[in-house]
Amino acid sequence: MAALLGAGCFLLPADPSPTLHYAVELIDGGVHVSVTVAGGPRPVAWIGFGASPLGGELTSRRIDRVTARTVEGAPLGVRPAGRDAYRVDVATNEAWVLEYRATIGSPPADSYHRASSASNDHMVLVGVDVWARFFDRRADVEPAPVDRLLENVAAATVSFDAESLPRGWVVVGAALETTLNNFTLNEHPARSAFALGPYRFHDIDTSLGLRAAIHTGWNVAREHLVSYSRQLARVQASQFGRPPGDPAIMIFTPLPPGVRPLEGVRSAGMVWDRSLLLFAGAGPSVPRNNDRVREMMGVFLGHELFHLYVPWGLPVTRPLSWLSEGWAEHIGRSSARSARILSAAGADRSLRDAYERYLEMGGARAGSLRNAGESGGEDLRPLLYVRGELVFRILSLEWDKSGQPGSFDGVLWQRLLAEYDGETPLQPEAVSRILSDMVSPGVVRRLVDGAAVITLPELELGRR
Ligand SMILES: [Zn+2]
Repeated sequence: MAALLGAGCFLLPADPSPTLHYAVELIDGGVHVSVTVAGGPRPVAWIGFGASPLGGELTSRRIDRVTARTVEGAPLGVRPAGRDAYRVDVATNEAWVLEYRATIGSPPADSYHRASSASNDHMVLVGVDVWARFFDRRADVEPAPVDRLLENVAAATVSFDAESLPRGWVVVGAALETTLNNFTLNEHPARSAFALGPYRFHDIDTSLGLRAAIHTGWNVAREHLVSYSRQLARVQASQFGRPPGDPAIMIFTPLPPGVRPLEGVRSAGMVWDRSLLLFAGAGPSVPRNNDRVREMMGVFLGHELFHLYVPWGLPVTRPLSWLSEGWAEHIGRSSARSARILSAAGADRSLRDAYERYLEMGGARAGSLRNAGESGGEDLRPLLYVRGELVFRILSLEWDKSGQPGSFDGVLWQRLLAEYDGETPLQPEAVSRILSDMVSPGVVRRLVDGAAVITLPELELGRR
């Protein structure tokens, strides 16, 4: 975009992407953020905040006290421009500063892992709903927060004020930490996640670029987290290669009392780019370290680690949540089995449990994976996981019988990557075609595209 200013003719820089520096101070109940904006939109900047697409609306963070000024401190005009959107009159050719407060609450139990959260002993900042975005057109802030796009930025840094952190707290993130509490990103930080609290770092596997940060309050199978994660990551790397992209971090945070289950164990995970946010909590009657809890953690960690390859709702699979979730369930269980975290009997038992859940949700009547994936509704989500997993089990059994070389999962991954151009998510037709080339097209038609009933014998429990 070019603009004429005054008598002389000034072209704005050909690349209007701003350089953003976010300075974050922890305050009571949230964070105070000052963003120094160099370059970028002017004379008017449209500011929009986003929201987690899976976060159950904006229940966990509130943005307010939005002001703007020059670096020297002269105020700039700010006006609301819709939901979590503002217009700033950038009456300066220099860098300027946007300030705001983000109050971080506690999301409901079902979406605790999907949005920013805080309790007395931690704060998790999910980038998509915390960091201001800067646009040069009003149209860019007109969509609802959840649908706002990310703008391009030339560079971004996020610095946390160490003085404001309680004693013993550290800042954890996957981004490059250039100096203590100062992180550099090569894109807008919206896809990042940061956790603040008493976390301790562990190397999982340096050659795979994987670290963990475990909150001191985590108490579900704690002594196994590092070894399980290492074994699972290595099993998966032997099938799929090194996880693509930059180094990744697993962030383990205990569910606070308000969302902890009264009995049993609840675990929940979410991948935000290279950060795996992992939560768990156990009811008071659950023995800290029994076999079932350990097995459950193994499958959970296997599922979440697989999202470093095939994340939810991101390229490769965007319209195909069954492909990310059903496959992750299948890999979670099979890699826990390969890593000997899960016994053969344990694997069978948990598959049988999955089959029970499939019948409970109506089995074939619940519909096809494709419908569930495309409807986008919360009510069909369980189908993506459970039917998805059972279908993957059957497809991989088919593949094994065909005697072709390689593992079903490894070969499917390679074929998907071969068709994926790095930008456009693969369409359902492409995935059906790839699968039909690997196993019987009739099976793909019945189970993947259609809603054919899955029977217990097809799962061949006891076979491996
Ligand atoms: Zn998942």
